[in-house]
Amino acid sequence: MIIRAKFNHWYPRVFKVSAITLYPYMLFRDESADPTLLKHELCHVNQVRKLGYKFYLLYVYELLKNMSKGQKFWVAYFNISFEIEAREYEKSPLTRDEIMDLTLAGVTLPSEVEKSIASRNT
Ligand SMILES: [Zn+2]
Repeated sequence: MIIRAKFNHWYPRVFKVSAITLYPYMLFRDESADPTLLKHELCHVNQVRKLGYKFYLLYVYELLKNMSKGQKFWVAYFNISFEIEAREYEKSPLTRDEIMDLTLAGVTLPSEVEKSIASRNT
């Protein structure tokens, strides 16, 4: 399924986060997203693609499990395995395929991203 990006969205604002991936939508709070945030959300896209909608059940389950251990909401959220994986994933640069997917999704990438891809492929 082709992903779609929506910016300036109210949904992430309600949850006080920068973005939320509700596959196939990536909803961003602000008018644009930096490559790190895009990469983070793409990791969640991959997680949904791998696990299907079970991803969301497991996500909420882990959040509640962490909270039941006494962790405060944001700590519990931070410690969800899918979030740990996404924070690790966001450290690597966007791949050619990801840039293609993001472009199809309607994301305008910063010019330095385009340049870094061009230089990597020479
Ligand atoms: Zn995340």
